[in-house]
Amino acid sequence: MTEAPEDCLFCRMVAGEISPDVVRETDRTLAFRDINPQAPTHVLVVPKEHHATLGALAAADPGLTAELAAAAHAVAVQEGLATPEGPEPGYRLVANSGPQAGQTVHHVHLHVLGGRDLRWPPG
Ligand code: 5GP
Ligand code: ZN
Repeated sequence: MTEAPEDCLFCRMVAGEISPDVVRETDRTLAFRDINPQAPTHVLVVPKEHHATLGALAAADPGLTAELAAAAHAVAVQEGLATPEGPEPGYRLVANSGPQAGQTVHHVHLHVLGGRDLRWPPG
């Protein structure tokens, strides 16, 4: 785990200082609705530990990285975007990393997006 900045928004949510609209929680992950949804379903899935990016998390803790992916898929199933049998109707996972990708919160998070047709390439 990297040192968490004192003002990290998602660490404050994990600590209970801010109460997001939580849709799923495990021992090591938290999933909550994005405050500015870009699709009918837009959920953010974070590890409770602070890591800045997906790459940093993968380097530090492969097991937690896998848990994060599994948590995102479980959210998609819970939201009706996939079934245990397959990815129907479907969803998209996004992990913005760094300034050119538009990362604004520097605590790794997977965006789970779905509920409408998603265009490709993204903007
Ligand atoms: P990024 O741009 O870093 O990939 O995504 C950060 C996301 O956090 C954005 O989609 C933004 O809408 C969301 N966000 C920012 N502040 C809050 C907040 O206070 N609560 C919630 N639930 N989401 C937030
Ligand atoms: Zn954090």
